[in-house]
Amino acid sequence: MQNYNDLLRENLEWVEKKLDLDKDYFKNLSKSQKPPFLYIGCSDSRMPIDTFTQSEPGSFFIHRNIANQIFSNDMNFLATLEYAVEQLEVEHIIVSGHYECGGIKTAHEKCTNSSIISSWLMPIKKIEVEHKEELKALATKDERIDRLTELNVLEQLKHIFELSIIRNRIATGKYPKIHGWILDIRNGKIKEMEIPFKDWKSKGIIPKEYEA
Ligand SMILES: [Zn+2]
Repeated sequence: MQNYNDLLRENLEWVEKKLDLDKDYFKNLSKSQKPPFLYIGCSDSRMPIDTFTQSEPGSFFIHRNIANQIFSNDMNFLATLEYAVEQLEVEHIIVSGHYECGGIKTAHEKCTNSSIISSWLMPIKKIEVEHKEELKALATKDERIDRLTELNVLEQLKHIFELSIIRNRIATGKYPKIHGWILDIRNGKIKEMEIPFKDWKSKGIIPKEYEA
């Protein structure tokens, strides 16, 4: 693991490497940004999405919080979303959870005290209660936590589709495609979640004009 001083030294090494390959790298990078992706993920230190996808700076506009939560009254998130959709005109929005998520585990195991983190995770507890039967049918606790991780991503996707920023955009016919991912930290691979478009459209969660 790097220590603090390593960070500064290795930053300089990285700058050198980049300039060796392209002397105008930073000149070009500093001009503007036009990222194709808005990424909404967990704050977990093991989840730098650009590392997992071998992406260069400029690819992802990013919002991260514990257990990738989306709240319609979170100004931080809403400002990020509005800027990404209206100004940057991102082509894709990716909501990503990950297995072995401390937030999901805490929600499952001990989300009972009055700490701020417990309040933050309470909506996940609610998802768990809503899917009690499905989760109970799974053989092990690990499987239940994995499934809760997936259900949490699906729930956050519903929240995205219900926001006026997104609905207004869909009504114009020019809108970002919305995706759900699970980063499987056990093997490094990204798993695409299947979104139940037909069901969600019939329930009005997704506007009927939206094409996946
Ligand atoms: Zn996490």
